[in-house]
Amino acid sequence: MAKILMKTPLVEMDGDEMTRIMWKMIKDDLIVPFVDLRTEYFDLGLENRNATDDQVTIDSANATKRLGVAVKCATITPNAARMEEYDLKKMWKSPNGTIRAMLDGTVFRAPILVKGIEPYVRTWKAPITIARHAYGDVYRDVEMRVPGPGRVDLTYTPADGGDPQSVCVHEFAGPGVVEGMHNLDESITGFAHACFSYALETRQDLWFATKDTISKTYDHRFKDVFADLYETEYREKFEAADIEYFYTLIDDAVARVMRSEGGFIWACKNYDGDVMSDMVSTAFGSLAMMTSVLVSPHGYWEYEAAHGTVQRHYYKHLRGERTSTNSVATIFAWSGALRKRGELDGTPDLVRFADALERATIGTIEDGKMTGDLARITTLPNPRQLDTEEFILAIADRLQKELA
Ligand code: NAP
Ligand code: MG
Repeated sequence: MAKILMKTPLVEMDGDEMTRIMWKMIKDDLIVPFVDLRTEYFDLGLENRNATDDQVTIDSANATKRLGVAVKCATITPNAARMEEYDLKKMWKSPNGTIRAMLDGTVFRAPILVKGIEPYVRTWKAPITIARHAYGDVYRDVEMRVPGPGRVDLTYTPADGGDPQSVCVHEFAGPGVVEGMHNLDESITGFAHACFSYALETRQDLWFATKDTISKTYDHRFKDVFADLYETEYREKFEAADIEYFYTLIDDAVARVMRSEGGFIWACKNYDGDVMSDMVSTAFGSLAMMTSVLVSPHGYWEYEAAHGTVQRHYYKHLRGERTSTNSVATIFAWSGALRKRGELDGTPDLVRFADALERATIGTIEDGKMTGDLARITTLPNPRQLDTEEFILAIADRLQKELA
């Protein structure tokens, strides 16, 4: 069988731990045998980030700006324990944070639905796609430990030399903590545009929620930006497409989501999206069945799995024990990136390959062959639990038949 040709390379961002092990298996068994794979490779594994003073992360984001489409493996975000484990020079920032900030994008996460893995929420029948605002708030905050009695102020000093404005955060009578957060009209507007456009493109309702009753300036700004943009640019298009924009308070949104049927996009502020996407993916079956794509208003696309590096499984793997780690979300990161590359380059064979890879993956599970996380929760009779590599090889087998 002739290999499928690629016109433009993908940006390939390798990562850490168990996902790094699966990354190589996916390439070796599911992609390279069928596609004449062209990538620009960046090793975002923690050792190389440390060796390059994190320059490799910046280089990979710049390459994405040049080539347009990236696929990323999960990476470690260092904490105190990792400082010691990897003997790090510095507690490097989250690569995802750095890349998102450079591409200025919105992250859309959607569960992969398969027969036999039923959502824990009985009413959910269609995927709930979470759009996470990928800039600012607590992820870009500054924090201070307040050691004892004293006063903390928040001060704005206008760049044009105007009078500074101050508000008192708190008069501390004893020790405590304080945090300063920010966001930008430009970023919120970009986020709103991305959500409205993606809703139109996928013909799904768009929900948005904040806590504007409590946060009367900060969260209220988000509400206003969405409302203004909807009225001025999207209302007519939404009505023509027969979809709805719906705003409510975040706690009301959570309650409504739980009793909904799914099938809509839920736009979330940064922290809400971080937390709610873990809840939604788990409730749909498994964190390992959640796809994630960063869509930049400048036309860049970065695909990845929503889960982390699956550290516990990696340590088992290092001890020589059998692991059964689910590679589906990482496979869908590859298929998503290859499909987008094919669409942008006008290479339909690549698009067809991406479709076939996804069908082979879903078909393998629906045939009863799956990893442990799914075998534990499936409603299919007599599931066969495969180990990490056996599962990928079972998909390869099916993919061969799909493409023949
Ligand atoms: P995690 O890697 O997502 O794993 C948490 C647990 O979820 C696992 O221990 C496992 O449960 C289950 N799980 C997740 N993915 C799975 C898969 N593909 N197959 C089977 N089970 C899966 O999160 P974490 O342990 O909190 O974080 C580990 C590292 O990942 C951290 O260093 C963190 O910084 C990083 N991280 C990276 C990203 C990213 O790059 N996008 C995102 C999140 C976290 P059991 O152990 O019970 O089987
Ligand atoms: Mg999270």
